[in-house]
Amino acid sequence: MTDTSTEPARITHWIGGRRWDGTAERQSEVYDPATGRLSGRVDFAGAAEVGAAVEAAAGAFPAWRDASLAKRASVLFAFRELVNRHRAELAALITAEHGKVQSDAEGEVTRGLEVVEFACGIPHLLKGGYSENVSTKVDSYAIRQPLGVVCGITPFNFPAMVPMWMFPLAIACGNTFVLKPSEKDPSASIRIAELWAEAGLPDGVFNVVHGDKAAVDALLDHPGIRAVSFVGSTPIARYVYQRGTSHGKRVQALGGAKNHMVVLPDADLDLAADAAVNAGFGSAGERCMAISVVVAVEPAADDLVGKIADRMAGLRVGPGCDAAAQMGPLVTGPHRDKVAAYLDAGTASGAELVVDGRKHQIDGEPSGYWLGPSLFDRVTPEMGVYRDEIFGPVLSVVRAASYDDALDMVNANPYGNGTAIFTNDGGAARRFQNEVQVGMVGINVPIPVPMAYYSFGGWKQSLFGDSHVHGIEGVHFYTHGKVVTARWLDPSHGGLNLGFPQNT
Ligand code: NAD
Repeated sequence: MTDTSTEPARITHWIGGRRWDGTAERQSEVYDPATGRLSGRVDFAGAAEVGAAVEAAAGAFPAWRDASLAKRASVLFAFRELVNRHRAELAALITAEHGKVQSDAEGEVTRGLEVVEFACGIPHLLKGGYSENVSTKVDSYAIRQPLGVVCGITPFNFPAMVPMWMFPLAIACGNTFVLKPSEKDPSASIRIAELWAEAGLPDGVFNVVHGDKAAVDALLDHPGIRAVSFVGSTPIARYVYQRGTSHGKRVQALGGAKNHMVVLPDADLDLAADAAVNAGFGSAGERCMAISVVVAVEPAADDLVGKIADRMAGLRVGPGCDAAAQMGPLVTGPHRDKVAAYLDAGTASGAELVVDGRKHQIDGEPSGYWLGPSLFDRVTPEMGVYRDEIFGPVLSVVRAASYDDALDMVNANPYGNGTAIFTNDGGAARRFQNEVQVGMVGINVPIPVPMAYYSFGGWKQSLFGDSHVHGIEGVHFYTHGKVVTARWLDPSHGGLNLGFPQNT
């Protein structure tokens, strides 16, 4: 009998409440990064499949828009329970295609669930204001209404959490949604679609199309899409913002990052070293909030570099499904090779390679996309390892002479996603939070990802558009404001008056 368990699975779109049953003109391969083995083939959407998804979403919109707040909230509560119950299963799907360790994958599902929990409060979040007697016997009130069909285009590095930054609030606000997840790890999004259906979400309210640029372009150009939420690298974020807005769509496009952690000499250097290792190498450095640059303000650098290197030596790198592994493989072979190339490039440009991840012991199959954690010292802002977003387990230490030099470096960087300062000086921390030109700031906290009831977003080239994701900014992004002015009692019969309305 043939063992079919190793047959690559077909991963297809979810449109109108069911798996797409059409044929695929194009597909791409999905691999297990811990083994390098082919695990699936994902269908790629073109204009036809995107059109079908938008049509399904547009068809579902009128009824979902009119569903009571109580009904919408009850579906969200049911979805919350289901995702919570299936947290480990979703995490295993993420680990199998992304490579991150299972505990980290469960953490990502948890952070996504926080947005679902926030969205469960939609009746409160959509409350408008009411002003009685803005003029004599005239009242005025504000309401927020959904936009229609909206879409989300998301990166490989958080296949559950980043989509969950978007669709819980979009759907809670009464919109219908088309998700285009990363083609590198597409399976979690389909399981999420099944859980929505089980939670009682009407068919067509949540749809998934897989694919690459062709699918993204079809979404950006489709006249039925009202708003686009994008998360990914800066060049694609800029492109999505420009193309989407040129068609009159509302667009929020979150881009890449180069996050600096400033360590002042008075800081607890053990705490700072732990934080640098956790934030630099967690998820193999494939986080938009990963610390990739440690700015050591002298005389802290020698001690700090030693403490970081000591901790790195003990890190266990292995398959994400191994409970003992602390760091998994990189997402694809080409990405691993690109990151590894920075180790030679950094050395050639004069940085000191203190720890070479290529020599790290790996507890996994040699065919996996492995690269151990690496550390550069004496990096300077002209070097490619400083300028580029490497998006892998490579940490750079830059030495700064003073707090002012460190701050100037962070502010001169074109990215502005996250940053952190480590110090025991409250005044210095207060100055930093005030002076730094970055959207999310940690004080003795290396990865300051805001909770769901605040909004997430960077500055400068880390965000194109005006609106951050989730929190109240998310509610505003997915709704139009409307203000009504009403007179019911003693309607005026003052005759013709062509003057501008005045309050009386
Ligand atoms: P990516 O930009 O390559 O892909 C993101 C999405 O865009 C995917 O769905 C992909 O299919 C699509 N895409 C890729 N190339 C395209 C093209 N030419 N035209 C249209 N669409 C295209 O990003 P990635 O490699 O999947 O993810 C890593 C990047 O995402 C990093 O730069 C990271 O910093 C960033 N990121 C940012 C945040 C944030 O909150 N700012 C969060 C997570 C990840």
